[in-house]
Amino acid sequence: MIPLCIPEIRGNEWKYIKECLDTNWVSSVGSYVDKFEKDFADYLNCKFSVVTMNGTSSLELALRTLGIGEGDEVIVSSMTFISPVNTIRYVGAEPVFVDVCRDSFVMDVTKIEELITSKTKAIMPVHIYGHAVEMDLLKEIAKRYNLYVIEDATEALGSEYKGEKLGTIGDIGCFSFNGNKLITTGAGGMMVTNNEDYGHRAKYLSTQTKTVLENGAFYHEEIGFNYRMPNVLAAMGVAQLEMVPEFVEIKRRNAKFYNELFEKVKGIKPVIEREGTINCYWLYSILVEDEFGASRDQVIKVLKERGVQARPFFMPVHDMPPYKECRHGDMSITNEISLKGINLPSSVSITENEILTVFQAIKEISLKR
Ligand SMILES: *Cc1c(COP(=O)(O)O)cnc(C)c1O
Repeated sequence: MIPLCIPEIRGNEWKYIKECLDTNWVSSVGSYVDKFEKDFADYLNCKFSVVTMNGTSSLELALRTLGIGEGDEVIVSSMTFISPVNTIRYVGAEPVFVDVCRDSFVMDVTKIEELITSKTKAIMPVHIYGHAVEMDLLKEIAKRYNLYVIEDATEALGSEYKGEKLGTIGDIGCFSFNGNKLITTGAGGMMVTNNEDYGHRAKYLSTQTKTVLENGAFYHEEIGFNYRMPNVLAAMGVAQLEMVPEFVEIKRRNAKFYNELFEKVKGIKPVIEREGTINCYWLYSILVEDEFGASRDQVIKVLKERGVQARPFFMPVHDMPPYKECRHGDMSITNEISLKGINLPSSVSITENEILTVFQAIKEISLKR
C-alpha cells in the first residue's frame, strides 16, 4: 500500500522523550514545552508562540485571544478541513464563506470585500495543502475595514509568502502537529504571533488564567482553558522541528517530479506555485478535468485497487448541515474543484518508484477510455 501521508520519525524523538520519562517531567510543565515554543518561534522568525493540544485548540485560542465572540462574523474558506469553521462557532461567532481560487485552492481574496458587514471582525485565511493565500491584498483589505487576520497555517508549515513564513504574516497564525501533518507530536498545535499582548494573553488563557499568589495559592481573574501540551509531546515536537527544512526540501522535490510526469497527461491539471511563494506541498494535488474522460471518483477507485491511497478534496463546508444557513458569496469554484481535486500520496518517505506507480495507474485510466 502507498499511504497518503504518514509520519516520518527518524530523528531525536526517542532520545528527547526518554529524557522526559527518565526525569519524570511528563506533564504540561517542563523544559521541552519552553524549548518547543522558543525553537518554533525562531524557525518562523516570529516573537511569540504558545503550544496547544491540537491545531483546532490553537485556532480557538486565537479567536478568544482577540476577543471574537457572539454577534461577530469571521470570513473563512468553505473548501477547507472543517476545523477552523467549527472554532468560529465554538466562540459564538458566525462563519461567512468565501470562494477559492482555481489554481491554488486557497481563499480568493478578490471576493472578500463584498462579504464584509459591520459585524465582520476577522478574516481567517486557510493556506490549504501548503499553498499561500494572497496575503498582501488580504492585509490591505483587513487594514481598510479594521479586521483581524488569523492564519490557519496548519497545512503550511515551511511555506513562504514573499520571504515570510506563513503563519507570521497576519495578527495570529495557527499550526497543527496531527499525525498526517508535515511534522507530528501525535496530536498538538501551536499559536504564533508577533504581538506581545496577544502572545501573553494566549498563554494566560490557555493555562487556566492561573496567577500564583505569594503564598502559592492559585487566583483566577476570569474563565480560562486548559489547552496545554504535555512535555513528552513537546519533546517529540522539538525533535520533529529539527527535520523541517529537510522534510520541506523532500516534499518540494517530490512535487516537482509529480508535476513533470503529469504535465503530459491530458485532462490532469497539476498544482502551481504562485510567484513569490514557496509551497511546502504538504499534500500534492491534481484536478481531474472533464477532458480526462474518467471522473475524479473513478480515479480514486482505480488507485485504491492498485493499493494507492488518494483522497478527494474537502467537501464544501457551507453544504454541511450545521452551516447550511450561513452567509456566503458565489461558490462556483469551491463547488467545482471539490468535485475534481485529488490529494495524492505525499509522505516524506515516498520513493520515486512509488510516485511512478501512482502516475502510471492514472495514465492507464486515460489510455483505456
Ligand atoms: C489539520 C487541520 C486543522 C486542525 O488540526 P488538528 O490538530 O487536527 O486539530 C485545522 N485546519 C486545517 C485546514 C487542517 O488541515
